[in-house]
Amino acid sequence: MSRALDFISDLIYPNWCPFCQEVIPWDAFCCKSCRDKLETADFCKTCGMSVCDCKTVSHSYDGCAVAAPYVGKVREGVLAFKYHCGFNFAKLYAPKLCSLIREYGFIGGDTVVTAVPMSYSRKNTTGYNQAEYLAKLISKNLDLPHSFGLIKKRGGTVQHELDADERAEAAKRSYVQKRGVGLSGKTVILCDDIITTGSTLSACSEVLKNSGAERVYCAVLCGTVSAKKEDNQ
Ligand SMILES: [Zn+2]
Ligand SMILES: [Zn+2]
Repeated sequence: MSRALDFISDLIYPNWCPFCQEVIPWDAFCCKSCRDKLETADFCKTCGMSVCDCKTVSHSYDGCAVAAPYVGKVREGVLAFKYHCGFNFAKLYAPKLCSLIREYGFIGGDTVVTAVPMSYSRKNTTGYNQAEYLAKLISKNLDLPHSFGLIKKRGGTVQHELDADERAEAAKRSYVQKRGVGLSGKTVILCDDIITTGSTLSACSEVLKNSGAERVYCAVLCGTVSAKKEDNQ
């Protein structure tokens, strides 16, 4: 049914590659030329960092799956997804993210998929929350229920203008527990588009655990590749 809708909507709004904006067939997620040039990288399955910081930083989540590095074409693609309805980016990477989630053993007996919440003002500008869009794809692919509104988001701090410590402090203030949310005994898969220091995911995981979640695993489309890695090379 949704394939039929995709076909029909393609007649009205042509399907486009999230990396180069070229028009592509209605059932493709990117053009062939971009598909062959997409950057890849490995990330720690516990902290989600390209250079593991498990020994120096304590994250509140129990594991993190990251599909691709936030560089080059992938970076263009995730920005298109975040700000310009480039939904094909998430459709392309969701299956990879789901195989990592399975491979890492992130699915427990009673598992629910959720997303990092967005402030109302941001959602009003873009019209959608990209993290929720990803969470719905993951929930469908893994045949798990999804639930939003588990975390309350306070007014917006612009995270990317802050350093690591400021980010962690701001994130802790931004995400708060919501009354009436009970997650006792549950495993939660928390979705987001980009991981930088992990402070947002940590703050949200802490809120989920305060609401009773037994384990919180993150599923993220891309991760920044640490400058530290270049120093070590
Ligand atoms: Zn392309
Ligand atoms: Zn690590």
